[in-house]
Amino acid sequence: MSFSITTTTAPTPAARRAEILADPGFGRFFTDHMATAEWTVDEGWQELRVRPLEPFSMHPGVGVLHYGQEIFEGLKTYRHADDSLQLFRPDMNAARFARSARRLALPEFPPELFLEAMDELVRIEADWVPPHGDEASLYLRPIEFASEAFLGVRSSRTATFCTVASPAGAYFTGGVRGIRLWVTTKYTRAAVGGTGDAKCGGNYAGSLLAQTEAQEQGCDQVLYTSGPPERRILEEAGTMNIVLITRSGKLVTPGLGTILPGVTRDSLLTLAPEHGLVPVEREIPLPELVDGCRSGEIVEVFAAGTAAVITPIIALAGDGFEVTVGAGEPGPAGLALREHLLGIQHGDLPDPRGWMR
Ligand code: PMP
Repeated sequence: MSFSITTTTAPTPAARRAEILADPGFGRFFTDHMATAEWTVDEGWQELRVRPLEPFSMHPGVGVLHYGQEIFEGLKTYRHADDSLQLFRPDMNAARFARSARRLALPEFPPELFLEAMDELVRIEADWVPPHGDEASLYLRPIEFASEAFLGVRSSRTATFCTVASPAGAYFTGGVRGIRLWVTTKYTRAAVGGTGDAKCGGNYAGSLLAQTEAQEQGCDQVLYTSGPPERRILEEAGTMNIVLITRSGKLVTPGLGTILPGVTRDSLLTLAPEHGLVPVEREIPLPELVDGCRSGEIVEVFAAGTAAVITPIIALAGDGFEVTVGAGEPGPAGLALREHLLGIQHGDLPDPRGWMR
C-alpha cells in the first residue's frame, strides 16, 4: 500500500511563503497539503492520499465530536546543511501513535504507513522546511479520530487519519530563557489506569484550566503531581516531561506509567552518560524537589519536549511554597544537553545511533 499524490493547483505564492517562514511562530500557518487515510472495520485502512489541504466535512453525529475518541502526535523536520530533510526519531512517534490508538480503542495506523505518510508529506512540502542554520523546523501533526456518525458509546467503526504540517520558528529567540512552573495540587492530569500515557486530545482539553491557574499565579506552565496530599509525586508539565539534575551528577526523571513517554525524555536518558550524568528513572516526591532546590541538592530542573527540546525551569511555586532553582538561571547541564540534541537534529553533530531519518 502506498500514498497517491495529488498536488495543489493553488499553492501558497513563494513570496507569501517566504514572509511566513521569516516569522512562523508556532502552529499559526499550515502548508498546502495533508496526508489522509480512511479506516473501516470491514476494509481496514484505505484511501491513502497526499492531497491539497482542505476543510473536512463531517456529520454532526461523528464520535470524535461527542466522546473525544481522538489521538495525535507531534514531530519536526529539519533541513541539514546538505539540503536533506530529516525527521528526528519518527519511529518513536509512529510506535506511540499506535499505542495511543490502542488505548483510545481506535485502529492502529501501521508504523510503516505512518513513516511513509511523513516522508511523502515532507517531500511535497520541501519548500516549507526552513533553511539550515536557524533553529526553525517544519512541525508535523498526525491525528486520528472516530468518524462514524453514531451516538452509542462504543468504539467507532470508521476512523480518519490525517497529518497537517506547520512551520515552527526557533522556540527561544534572543537566548534560552528559563520559566517558572506552578505545581498544581488542585488539578491532576492522569491516574493509574487512565490515559496519561496516551497522546489523546482529551488530556489537553482537561489541562487548559490548570494552565490558566498557573498564569494567574504568575507562572508560565503547570507541573502536575499525583497521589494523596501527604505524598504527592511529580508527574510532568502540560506538554513536557520533567528532569532534575542533582549535585551528585544524576539525571533524574519520573518513571513511566501515568506520564507521556516523551521522545525527548528518552533521548536525554540515552545521552546522559556522555555528559557525565547517571540516568535515573524513579518516583520523585514533591517534598524532595522543594527541599532539594532549597538545600542545593538539586542543581537544575528542566522540562523536555519536542517543541523546545529543553526549557530550563528557574523557579517553582505551589500552594504555600516558592523556590528558586540553582542560581535562578538556565543551568549548564540542561544547556549542554540542549545543544547536543539540537546539534543532532539539525545535522551539525554526529548521530551515531541513527536517530535521523
Ligand atoms: N508530556 C506531554 C504531556 C506532552 O504533550 C509532550 C509533547 N509530546 C511531552 C511530554 C514530550 O514528549 P516529546 O518529547 O515526545 O515531544
